[in-house]
Amino acid sequence: MKTNFRQDFPILNDEANPVVYLDSAATTQKPLSVIKSLENYYTSQNANPLRGLYKLSATATSEYEQARHSVAQFINANEDCEIIFTRNTTESLNLIAYTYGMENIQEGDEIVISILEHHSNILPWQMIAKLKKATLKYMYINDEGIISDEEIQTKITPKTKIVSITQVSNVLGIATPLKAIIKKAHEVGAIAIVDGAQGAPHMATDVQDLDCDFYAFSGHKMLAPMGIGILYGKKSILEQMPPFLRGGEMIETVSEQDATFAPLPEKFEAGTPNVSGAIALKAAIEYINQVGFSYIEQQEEKLMKIAMEELSKLPYITIYGSPDYKKHKGVLSFNIQDIHPHDVSSLVDYHGNIALRAGNHCAHPLLKYLNAQSTNRISFYFYNTKEDVYQFIEQIKKVRSYLGYDV
Ligand code: PMP
Repeated sequence: MKTNFRQDFPILNDEANPVVYLDSAATTQKPLSVIKSLENYYTSQNANPLRGLYKLSATATSEYEQARHSVAQFINANEDCEIIFTRNTTESLNLIAYTYGMENIQEGDEIVISILEHHSNILPWQMIAKLKKATLKYMYINDEGIISDEEIQTKITPKTKIVSITQVSNVLGIATPLKAIIKKAHEVGAIAIVDGAQGAPHMATDVQDLDCDFYAFSGHKMLAPMGIGILYGKKSILEQMPPFLRGGEMIETVSEQDATFAPLPEKFEAGTPNVSGAIALKAAIEYINQVGFSYIEQQEEKLMKIAMEELSKLPYITIYGSPDYKKHKGVLSFNIQDIHPHDVSSLVDYHGNIALRAGNHCAHPLLKYLNAQSTNRISFYFYNTKEDVYQFIEQIKKVRSYLGYDV
């Protein structure tokens, strides 16, 4: 069985710049097959799809639709038309807020999210809540970063119309109890939206088994290029929703004063789509399928075990969330006593060429809740190695002495 996947990633094998890349939660590196698929599209297939009647345009259309099919299979959607291509998770979540949210939320309704959310899954709901005089409610976490069943049962009420929840926290790496949350949302008649940005790349996801109404994720966090995102929605709900953006490609007929809209999925894909991005996303999915989620999870768990064991030996380190390495799905936030994360990141970059994230990770409410202004964050993908972790630990051990502390 192949395990030397790292060799397929040119940027990780650049001898002139041997980076220890620990920021895959921000964006993953790309394998050669994905890079080549872009080159191939622009070398031999490029044309505007959907409306052209000539062969090149027909090929672009069919490649684009095959990419949609591949995404549908990847998350086990029932039909290809339930997959809408967007730019990223942020756009996917905004699409739901601007269409479903605008149409269905009334004064006095409640929208429930969690304190773990990325700003992309907070700001659209703040907007709807303010515009519609609805209430935005939060489910909070315990000391280990977990949303308890009591939180789910008490925060989601008959007034709740939308529940929108992350699959995995981009700060703590902790997975949320999705099934229990979705079940409760449906019991009270609300829809359930999942932000899968940190889930889809790391664990097998079956939207029919989850029974979520929407599932949003980004190609660039799972080996594909930036600029291609996905929104899955149940067909019956998507069909009822008004369009998001209006213009070419999404219409059936247009008169001077009116228009009728194309069926799914075109209704939600106004303008020229990102065909090369979709094709490269298909190549990324093929690559991930070749690696397999059991290998991905095993590798991330193995690296997390070493990282947490080694960091825990250092008395000046605070780790956020669960002390159990198995709970951190490839992501870990920590702080070094007395040292600002921006300094940590700059120092380990300068001395060890380590790409380490520092800041508030687009999750201000969570950081405030954790009583941390900012954190250092490492995040793994299957191409990371034990050597990456040991090089990182070696640098972390030196950070305090770089700044003149005894240890
Ligand atoms: N949600 C989560 C949990 C994320 O980690 C991110 C990216 N950091 C996003 C949403 C937003 O993704 P994008 O920037 O690709 O829209």
